[in-house]
Amino acid sequence: MTNKILFIANWKMFGDLDSVKSIKSVINLSKKKKYKKAKIIYCPPYTLLDKFVIKTRKTKLCVGAQNCHQVINTGPYTGAISTTMIKKIGAKYVIIGHSENRSNGETNNQINKKIHSAISNNLNVIFCIGENLFEKKHNRTNNILKKQIYLGLKQIKKIDKIIFAYEPVWSIGTGKILTNKELTKQIIIIKNIIKNLFKKQKTKIIYGGSVNNRNINNLKQINEIDGFLIGGASQNSKKFIDIIKKTIN
Ligand code: PEP
Repeated sequence: MTNKILFIANWKMFGDLDSVKSIKSVINLSKKKKYKKAKIIYCPPYTLLDKFVIKTRKTKLCVGAQNCHQVINTGPYTGAISTTMIKKIGAKYVIIGHSENRSNGETNNQINKKIHSAISNNLNVIFCIGENLFEKKHNRTNNILKKQIYLGLKQIKKIDKIIFAYEPVWSIGTGKILTNKELTKQIIIIKNIIKNLFKKQKTKIIYGGSVNNRNINNLKQINEIDGFLIGGASQNSKKFIDIIKKTIN
């Protein structure tokens, strides 16, 4: 693993005003010298973004949104949030291309527009890619990943603000994970796809899918990854802290 280890908490459609308080213990942990290596980013639902920004002010923690609209500023898009709005509220990251949105019809073309919008607003992008079970069973994983990367990053010249999150769809929330050997091989393939496009630019790649405080000791052995995107287990600060502590010990 590289110098900084990313721990990105995707709270999905969970959390209320009370749960904001629960991150205090994570803030306290981040102040300890030993955990300086941890780069902790919270992605709560839109309704809590401002509360998280306020709560994490003057701490090392950062905040991100879970999605955005592709139109950069404002417009007649009921229920949508633009990257300008995300930026103005004080968040620094945005998750784009999560499989839970792809499965609702989000296309690679839309994802590409969202990424352009985020970058032009100087936001960091957590760009999710991953194959579903059907694609995996039919040996289409590498083609799918290539397509997601090529189309998602069309006309993108620099990847310094992009974190690639490899999230096999069949692994999210299921408890099923590739073996370390398989995962390492897959990450190397993804790195090569990126290298082909972006030559010598530095790549940040994290893994997401059923990461928890029981499998982290095993997953952290994989040198090729720079951290984790954590859904379910990040909503409980005790479990989230356990994951961070076990990774950095
Ligand atoms: C996710 O939704 O990004 C995710 C990784 O979820 P989980 O950790 O619950 O599998």
